[in-house]
Amino acid sequence: MRSRQKPADQVKIAKERIAMLFNHAEQSAKKGRIEYANRYIHLARKIGMRYNVRLPSNYRRRFCRQCKKYLCNGVSSEETQEKGFLKIKCLNCSRVMRYKLKEYIAS
Ligand SMILES: [Zn+2]
Repeated sequence: MRSRQKPADQVKIAKERIAMLFNHAEQSAKKGRIEYANRYIHLARKIGMRYNVRLPSNYRRRFCRQCKKYLCNGVSSEETQEKGFLKIKCLNCSRVMRYKLKEYIAS
């Protein structure tokens, strides 16, 4: 297995592809094509792993931490607010993720 750092230009392209895939995922989810969104997330994560690109937090919270499915409120996830926290429940695996509401809105 290769462990050397990837060239900077490749990393840059990888980041652009990840941004594009997350964009596609969002568009697909809006059209109710959640399976497409899951596929785009899968590809984006794969690119991130191959090029050692850490996904930004605003991308990471768009999919389930456990089953990696795209989280779309009302479709694949349920959002509830409680005492300054936003709770996002994945309807696929029932995992609940909690975010501080202030931080969530800020990013
Ligand atoms: Zn899940």
